[in-house]
Amino acid sequence: MGERLTAQAALDFRRPMQVRKAVRYRSGGVFPLCPRCGAALEREYQGFCDRCGQKLGWRKYNQTLVVST
Ligand SMILES: [Zn+2]
Repeated sequence: MGERLTAQAALDFRRPMQVRKAVRYRSGGVFPLCPRCGAALEREYQGFCDRCGQKLGWRKYNQTLVVST
């Protein structure tokens, strides 16, 4: 059972998760947030999260919720 869960988790990482949130810093920059780990992404439309390796999708990015710090 543990092996099946691991395989499923690996599949989830290959399937893109849509980016739906971004954060606006007081300095003025807006950074998209990884939907899996919540890390701020350096670039829009990058293929994978630098921190957790999640594959990212950008189809919903034009409806992104921007939160301010
Ligand atoms: Zn991530």
